Amino acid sequence: MSSLRFHLVKEAFSHTPVCVKAPEKRTSDYFGMNVFNRDKMSKYLSKETFKIVTDAIDNGTPLNRDIASHVAAGMKMWAMEMGVTHYTHWFHPLTDGTAEKHDSFIELTGKGLVTEEFEGKLLAQQEPDASSFPSGGIRNTFEARGYTAWDPSSPAFIVDDTLCIPTIFISYTGEALDYKTPLLRSLAAVDKAATETCRYFDPSIKKVQSNLGWEQEYFLVDDSLYCARPDLMLTGRTLMGHESAKNQQLEDHYFGSIPARVAAFMKDLEFEGYKLGLPLKTRHNEVAPNQFELAPIYEETNLAVDHNLLVMDVMHRVAKRHNFKVLMHEKPFAGVNGSGKHNNWSLSTNTGVNLFSPGKTAEGNLMFVTFLVNTLMAVYKYNAVLKASIASATNEHRLGANEAPPAIISAFLGTQLTQVLEKLEASTSDEAIKFDAKGVLHLNVGQIPELMIDNTDRNRTSPFAFTGNRFEFRAIGSSANCASAMTALNSAVAAQLVEFNAEVDKRIAAGEKKEKALFAVVREYAKQSKPIRFDGNGYCDEWKAEAKARGLDCEVSVPVQYDAYLKPEVVKMFTSMGVLSEKELHARNEVKWETYTKKIQIEARVLGDLAMNHIIPVATRYQSSLLDNVYKLKSLYEPAKFERLAAEKLHLIEEIEAYVDAVQTMVGLMIEARKVANRIENEREKAVAYHDTVAPYFEKIRYNIDKLELIVDNEMWPLPKYRELLFIR
Ligand code: ADP
Ligand code: MG
Repeated sequence: MSSLRFHLVKEAFSHTPVCVKAPEKRTSDYFGMNVFNRDKMSKYLSKETFKIVTDAIDNGTPLNRDIASHVAAGMKMWAMEMGVTHYTHWFHPLTDGTAEKHDSFIELTGKGLVTEEFEGKLLAQQEPDASSFPSGGIRNTFEARGYTAWDPSSPAFIVDDTLCIPTIFISYTGEALDYKTPLLRSLAAVDKAATETCRYFDPSIKKVQSNLGWEQEYFLVDDSLYCARPDLMLTGRTLMGHESAKNQQLEDHYFGSIPARVAAFMKDLEFEGYKLGLPLKTRHNEVAPNQFELAPIYEETNLAVDHNLLVMDVMHRVAKRHNFKVLMHEKPFAGVNGSGKHNNWSLSTNTGVNLFSPGKTAEGNLMFVTFLVNTLMAVYKYNAVLKASIASATNEHRLGANEAPPAIISAFLGTQLTQVLEKLEASTSDEAIKFDAKGVLHLNVGQIPELMIDNTDRNRTSPFAFTGNRFEFRAIGSSANCASAMTALNSAVAAQLVEFNAEVDKRIAAGEKKEKALFAVVREYAKQSKPIRFDGNGYCDEWKAEAKARGLDCEVSVPVQYDAYLKPEVVKMFTSMGVLSEKELHARNEVKWETYTKKIQIEARVLGDLAMNHIIPVATRYQSSLLDNVYKLKSLYEPAKFERLAAEKLHLIEEIEAYVDAVQTMVGLMIEARKVANRIENEREKAVAYHDTVAPYFEKIRYNIDKLELIVDNEMWPLPKYRELLFIR
């Protein structure tokens, strides 16, 4: 083995678990200690300010500058007691991560001394030099200003010596430049529309909240091996590497015992997470070797999104201490499963009702079915944009590739709920609507058991599955910001509910009884949305044909999938819900196309470089040693014997020549294709060109390199192999 690689592998396999000092306290004793949560607020804010702020958090009432000043003073006092010296507005630009710029609390006193200051205006608003964040042309250089503005609904927290204040990020002219702004708008829209719908059933419902429980999959690799893989470092995935003889075929990793080194990392991560108020609940091995999952208890969606971004950040930092690197990429290794992020989503009311919970009664009530059917209708109508909301250059490796879910959005309900909907479609309101002794309305269309979680065949191939008391949107990529999918879903459902409310109201105004009107519209929607319901195997080819026949979006090219955002009905949906203006939608698509192009461009460059600088020189060197051997054989043996002895070697020499030649040729063609694509100015067309003409070379080049990996002397091979990367001990 090449001495460097051998050294790295040996080191990777000899790491002992980093001993993490076990906290002596119970989790509940330190949970949230680094968060300016309600508990801290009640201690550091006056009663009056506390009341106003919590009202703003619960009901979205605006906060004025005076209140911001009071809060800033309280926050500063708390933060300084915690040893904090800096603060930052923490926001989510349209990139993969979060952004922050730290400022110290210090101000000069004028006597050569400093004092710590943190005023309300610094809490409320900042003007970061944001000209280098993607904006899709919204910020021309002459109006390059962007503002961050405090989001009081997500509590400030401390990382290291810095107070982090969650903020939105908008342009000088008020357009959203981030993920959080449209998310907050969509949450307000779904609250408003769903609350209106709830009033048909229970007038005491004043607020509907969207909830999210994400499940985060990720890979761990040893830090030093990672550093020896330029492709992992620069693109997040391996662009080459022959499958390990053993990978996941024995199905021995999923839920298996967690390696000690990994367990130490997880404990450390949880400890850090708990201090930050992250309700981390579940940890386990995933299907692929070195693949793991982490899931918290679900929370209000905005908070859950922040917590997901925060945990991804914390994971990277904690991993460092354990000599690991966390891979968030959707497909770091070919041939084994990739990583996703299941988004468990539900709506719940201020009265404590989960609108997707069938309830304790044997007969499900009409409210549950109303929300269920409207969600199906929203997913049906907006299936293309929901897909676009999760589409990316990296997620493309999972969706529509040989791994589920497919690049088609469909919804899974399970046998029992499907039966309920079928009965609903077939029945009249007189048979189906019943009132119980208390006058509560029930829908008498069959059994809706309370705990379907345990007894439904949980279809793992469905991208949008009902799992008992929530929908599970499974197509999200592991590296994605959940906000994109959650914005699309909540907006679509909000728009759908607005339409539903209008139709019901129209019928009531025409003299129909409320229950009958509700029933009639729900039944109609159940029928209309039927094409989105699919309980079969989403992986099979028949489904693709069937989905097409049903009119579902089957587009597989990511840059083209983004077009869904600009369809007239989608623009109307987002604008009418007040979530994104047409200008914002166009700008964001520009960013999406540009990002797509850049990711593929970087991969193409790295692949070209590795092929030419790492692989071909080594393959040629090995080939030369074979040639050398052949010459020596020739000089030693008489022709007949020589021919026998050298035949295999000559064959190998030619094989190497063929692979090397193929790699060289295709790298050349790929570079040419890139040059052509680079000349295209239109961002969409450029992304399409990268997708259609550059990316297809990746697999072909890789195929030949992976063949060489099997032939070339193991000692010479410069890159850590899959078998070395994928099995942490
Ligand atoms: P599984 O892997 O079996 O799907 P997990 O326990 O890993 O389940 O994750 C389920 C996630 O769904 C958790 O984050 C959990 O808190 C969340 N969840 C449970 N109930 C709801 C709900 N009503 N709304 C939203 N999320 C929920
Ligand atoms: Mg799940």
